[in-house]
Amino acid sequence: MRVRVPFMDEVRFDSRVVGYTLRGSRYLNITNRCTLRCAFCPKFNGEWTVRDYNLRLRGEEPATDDIVVAVGDPDEIDEVVFCGLGEPTLRLYTLIDVAARLRGEVPRVRVNTDGLANLVYGRDVTPDFEDIVQSLSVSLNAQDEATYNRHCRPLLPGAYDAVLDFARRAREFVPEVTLTAIDGLPGVDIDACRKIADDLGVGFRRRVLGVVG
Ligand code: SF4
Repeated sequence: MRVRVPFMDEVRFDSRVVGYTLRGSRYLNITNRCTLRCAFCPKFNGEWTVRDYNLRLRGEEPATDDIVVAVGDPDEIDEVVFCGLGEPTLRLYTLIDVAARLRGEVPRVRVNTDGLANLVYGRDVTPDFEDIVQSLSVSLNAQDEATYNRHCRPLLPGAYDAVLDFARRAREFVPEVTLTAIDGLPGVDIDACRKIADDLGVGFRRRVLGVVG
């Protein structure tokens, strides 16, 4: 299957922004639901707009075909990123379906995730990403559980340890696994977060509050 539709900066369905472009990456906004309730999240502070893209999805979440169309022209992008104002793995089977359809059609697929999918689904989902997801960006967000809970306010118990376990398991199936943390949040020790990533043998990226990517 060759995905090829005229390239547009923003693809809307019924006024919903499903695909949007930042710095050569095509972002897919497939859900607004989250497992976390991060205190620093724009949507929990009444802000749904990222770089002029309104990412609020009213009504039904976009269907698989709509998401594939929202990728646009693969020749115009460096990568496809599942990332909107919501946790993409809450639509795991849609994500897998879309990523499988994009295999060989786009340079690479990245998933920006809270790393809680194994906890949510009650099984190890990381093998599902093999050969269809080339990069996982996992929000670690803190160097310890207390700091994590303070900022991310998880709905499920055991979330922090689940994130670490997810990253550990994903190494076998996804070529590039990167933990991230946001610099500037009170109590977050970026160097300690980086050391956790080093000890796990995965990458680390310091993020800046309010910058999507
Ligand atoms: S995981 Fe992301 S989208 Fe969800 S509440 Fe946290 S910052 Fe917001």
